[in-house]
Amino acid sequence: MSGLLLPAERERILAKAAHFSPPDYILPDGRRDLVGLSREELTAEMEQIGEKPFRAKQLWHWIYHQGVRDFAAMSSIARPLQEKLAETFVIGRPEVASDQLSKDGTRKFLFKFRDHEAVETVYIPDRQEDRGAVCLSSQVGCTLSCRFCHTGTQRLARNLSAAEIVGQFMAARDAYGEWPSPKGDTPRLLSTIVLMGMGEPLYNYDNVAKAMKIIMDGEGIALSRRRITLSTSGVVPMMDRAGEELGINLAVSLHAVRDDLRDELVPLNRKYPIKDLIEACRRYPGASNARRITFEYIMLRGINDSEAEAHELVRLISGLPAKVNLIPFNPWPGSAYQPSTPEALKKFAAIVMKAGYASPIRTPRGRDILAACGQLKSAVEKGEAA
Ligand code: SAH
Ligand code: SF4
Repeated sequence: MSGLLLPAERERILAKAAHFSPPDYILPDGRRDLVGLSREELTAEMEQIGEKPFRAKQLWHWIYHQGVRDFAAMSSIARPLQEKLAETFVIGRPEVASDQLSKDGTRKFLFKFRDHEAVETVYIPDRQEDRGAVCLSSQVGCTLSCRFCHTGTQRLARNLSAAEIVGQFMAARDAYGEWPSPKGDTPRLLSTIVLMGMGEPLYNYDNVAKAMKIIMDGEGIALSRRRITLSTSGVVPMMDRAGEELGINLAVSLHAVRDDLRDELVPLNRKYPIKDLIEACRRYPGASNARRITFEYIMLRGINDSEAEAHELVRLISGLPAKVNLIPFNPWPGSAYQPSTPEALKKFAAIVMKAGYASPIRTPRGRDILAACGQLKSAVEKGEAA
């Protein structure tokens, strides 16, 4: 895609996203949720109730650094103001509609929001270390019907708000008691974020960006941008913007090396074909050997897993600071594909590795609770079990 077309196309994507906007959260009793507001918005809320801007700074610390949900626990704020805040505001969280633990330690939450829409959020513990990644959803459902993806079979209900995206992470931390203790212990377990849950994050860019800025803010949760990875199916016009504004790591769901096949597997390819996608990766700011772009490649038996395709993959990404994640296909009820054989996987990985790219075969986690990549699907549709 020509660079000149990008801004116009970007506007179109952002305008379309507005159609699927989340509801504005004011509780039935009129109180407003403080979670998900930018610092500027929080300061404006304080001004509106006649309070000085430094109150916003105090609240920010309690809400995002300490994880406090009750104004009465905010010891640096005097009782009368605590009461006034509690009359006007809440510090919200999504409701835990279900919470399942896999044999391998993976944990899947179904979080429900005030309008009863729900998404899944998965905690994936690291095998070696005492820490792990939280996989966040960005939309309820997805507009892009990738053929292999369970989420893609669910029509898009709506975008998530910044509050709902940040709220998934905060609620997961609540579940692990992962907020700094008064003794000053810092949280360890939930130390990485991957935007790889339900939805296409770059089709909900404004809310995702706002949420990530809140999470990266140094006086709150303070997660480094190096610990956040956004996965996209290839929304080319928004990739540059995400790189410039957020500087987080990029993962690209490639899955095929020829346009005819990618058109079928990832229908968005008809709009932004492989060549444009790879060009956008080459432009991605901050991509370097220390910060490599991840290419995700689902291994589908007899579809995209030949040795010739492995060679073509290497040719496509040559010169890019990249690694390749080979994802064994995770079947779900009614899916049309089979996972590649272990031999095909090994051969494919060896070719990519020999060309100098790390190519880990990502073992599926949480399969027993349908929590693995691409298996997420909320139970919002009628007749589905959770
Ligand atoms: N919409 C974004 C992010 C969410 S999908 C994207 O497509 O990148 C996160 C990852 O799960 C993607 O790489 C996606 O291709 C992969 N995935 C989807 N369905 C899968 C399945 N059934 N088995 C394995 N991985 C799958
Ligand atoms: Fe949407 Fe990603 Fe699933 Fe494709 S793979 S349908 S873009 S969530």
